[in-house]
Amino acid sequence: MKDFIRDGEIEDLLVKSESPDHKHVLDIIEKSKKLKGLTVEETAVLLQTEDPELLQAIFEAAREIKQGIYGNRLVLFAPLYIANYCSNNCLYCGFRRDNQDLNRVALTMDQIAEEVRAIEREGHKRLLMLCGEHPSRSSLDYFIEAIETAYATRTDEGGEIRRINVEIAPMSAPDFRRLKAASIGTYVLFQETYHHETYKTMHPSGPKADFAWRLTAMHRAQEGGIDDVGIGALFGLYDYRYEVLGLLIHARTLEADCGVGPHTISIPRLEPAFNAPAAISPPCPVSDDEFKKLVAIIRMAVPYTGMILSTRESPEIRTAVFELGISQISAGSRTNPGGYTKDSSENFRAAQFNLGDTRTADEVIHDIAIRGHIPSFCTACYRLGRTGRDFMDLAKPGLIQHFCRSNAMMTFKEYLMDYASPRTLEVGERLLAQLLAETEKPETRRILEERLERIEQGERDLFI
Ligand code: SAM
Ligand code: SF4
Repeated sequence: MKDFIRDGEIEDLLVKSESPDHKHVLDIIEKSKKLKGLTVEETAVLLQTEDPELLQAIFEAAREIKQGIYGNRLVLFAPLYIANYCSNNCLYCGFRRDNQDLNRVALTMDQIAEEVRAIEREGHKRLLMLCGEHPSRSSLDYFIEAIETAYATRTDEGGEIRRINVEIAPMSAPDFRRLKAASIGTYVLFQETYHHETYKTMHPSGPKADFAWRLTAMHRAQEGGIDDVGIGALFGLYDYRYEVLGLLIHARTLEADCGVGPHTISIPRLEPAFNAPAAISPPCPVSDDEFKKLVAIIRMAVPYTGMILSTRESPEIRTAVFELGISQISAGSRTNPGGYTKDSSENFRAAQFNLGDTRTADEVIHDIAIRGHIPSFCTACYRLGRTGRDFMDLAKPGLIQHFCRSNAMMTFKEYLMDYASPRTLEVGERLLAQLLAETEKPETRRILEERLERIEQGERDLFI
């Protein structure tokens, strides 16, 4: 499989859609509300829109789409960095090989279990496991053992991890098959930039210097049996409009070649990082307004693809973009191996980048619940085999709303029973009562009432 982004292709699209006609933009906005997605050309037109009135119409459409498909749920996860050795030299990352001052760590299985218990005690059920790329310190054998360790680790209070998504260097299809056999959820990998020249400059050496090997990773993952894949771009390396179109071409190519597009799109924005020149002064900084615009446009272009926001962003920006299209967020994160069990003052010299949101998971959950979002710890689809194409078949007619809202409420109830602070418990119970009252179908309301009562009585892990 070869590089499928043609040099000049995206520039041409952007040039052709410069200064778009008012009516044409409005037509595209109307089309997006039909929830069938947008073409790459239509998306380019929205990206080239600068008129404040049209931008407001874009934001409104994105809000409507997010609400219609995802409701007010936000799925929560915690990243777990297990090692920071790396043979690559990505100019924006604190883990890069030439950063001699970084404290290098590869956690032992006992240390990983300790970290997992700390995360479980915050109430998390989903992990995103990551590490640098290193042949001996982050081998696939080591990583798979870490996944097995995390799944097997329980706290005395019954805390458990129910789904592990992974974000590690691209590999061959047979190796992806081994990863799949370790029961991973989504395989996540960011292309960083879809712009060839910028990619070359940012990745001067190491295996990651091979653009095409990374671009085609998701095709090999599918070949290896992983049908939930997550793509992303690191915003700040090149023009954000170019990257959004790169993501969309990537998504459409996967749909055409593998029968299913990406399960998620991540939109990390460059953060300062230790001894990382490109992170300290980003080549193409993306302003907050541009960031909101790109979230809204991605939501309109691929309405059924989940969108992930990390704690790289500040609480204010996170709040502003939730309603524009975000469906998954991390909370209470650490980006240094061992960060959940160590004193935070030790973090900096081992971390990948700095965090914009340093609140605890409970603080984040309190904040989103007070704003009417339902914090969800649901892992039902993956455990019931509703992945890949099956998930999309369910999602597209809107059925997923029915499952997801109920499962979000049940897993949030578990959180409230087992982990919430008194103030989060109070806000959460109020929210659940309100959601129950708003549940239109009497049958769904009856089931929900019965399940929530069973959770109150001590049952756990109920889902539909
Ligand atoms: N080493 C693997 C890789 O590069 O794909 C695994 C994931 S790496 C630990 C996670 C991601 O963090 C990278 O893909 C990159 O997009 C992001 N990242 C690195 N440095 C960053 C920074 N300074 N600010 C924000 N995100 C950063
Ligand atoms: Fe290594 Fe990934 Fe950081 Fe690049 S982004 S230096 S590959 S950990």
